[in-house]
Amino acid sequence: MNRIEGVAVIGAGTMGSGIAYVAAQAGMRAWQIDVAPAQLERAREYHAKTASRSVEKGRMSSTESDALLSRITYHGSMAQGAAAGLAVEAATENPEIKRRIFEEMARTFPESTVLATNTSSISITSIGAAVGPGADRVVGMHFFNPVPVMKLVEVIRGLMTSDETVARTVAVAERLGKVPIPAHDRAGFVSNRVLMPMINEAFYAWMEGVAEPKHIDEIMKLGCNFPMGPLRLADFIGLDVCHDILMVLFRELGQDRYFPCPLLRQLVTAGRLGDKSGGGVYDHPQ
Ligand code: NAD
Repeated sequence: MNRIEGVAVIGAGTMGSGIAYVAAQAGMRAWQIDVAPAQLERAREYHAKTASRSVEKGRMSSTESDALLSRITYHGSMAQGAAAGLAVEAATENPEIKRRIFEEMARTFPESTVLATNTSSISITSIGAAVGPGADRVVGMHFFNPVPVMKLVEVIRGLMTSDETVARTVAVAERLGKVPIPAHDRAGFVSNRVLMPMINEAFYAWMEGVAEPKHIDEIMKLGCNFPMGPLRLADFIGLDVCHDILMVLFRELGQDRYFPCPLLRQLVTAGRLGDKSGGGVYDHPQ
């Protein structure tokens, strides 16, 4: 089994920038890829800021920080990362976009490359189907936000995924300092199947006037021992991402209870996407 030494990360948003950072932190080469130059610039700034904070806190020396940052390069096309042994797709949560990206990944990366998706909810088997004959190397590698902090990686096997692909994915996750846990290929896997209906319900509670957002969050923190209330968490994840995941659950599992709350839909339409846009449920001056 080939040891994986480099990771190509497709998508330089909240998750993709975090995945590239933890790869470089573990001593691996990281190719950060995005179609939007502004997102690549944002990722570069995030990497520099995260590394410099670690130096200030005495977690690494400035020489180590320089070496970490030099392991990440930034590109507008995935062809430049073709030498990576693992390609992780972390682009927008939309089945059509992901299928198109995977068709291109299958053409771009050699057959020995593991093709992973960080999707929160979309079927790994359906993404594998876009790849065709090489679908045995397609796997779900679901990181959590913020990637440098959160330990879990859900590893999801599609119908065509090979044992070797799963074993190599688990090995990389461990090398990144994460705890890989398997889940089956059902919409939302375990984490979002349980989390998203709760977040949706919190929006309904707000919309129906059961309590103000800050009281909903305080109640769940103090009464249920949550480190962060569900509405604050939704802002952190991104309201557009929550909306898209709920739509996948609704379509795939065929039950009305997964349909996004009208208030969540309205906020997304208004461009209030959470922390990343400066405001969602709450205002977040950037
Ligand atoms: P995001 O909106 O912050 O970033 C998405 C990025 O994908 C953008 O930079 C966009 O330019 C890029 N992109 C779109 N089409 C592309 C293409 N064809 N090629 C290359 N890049 C492309 O989203 P995010 O929050 O980072 O989520 C990314 C993925 O990770 C989604 O599948 C999401 O469900 C999943 N995820 C998100 C979280 C979270 O908390 N935000 C947690 C776990 C998993």
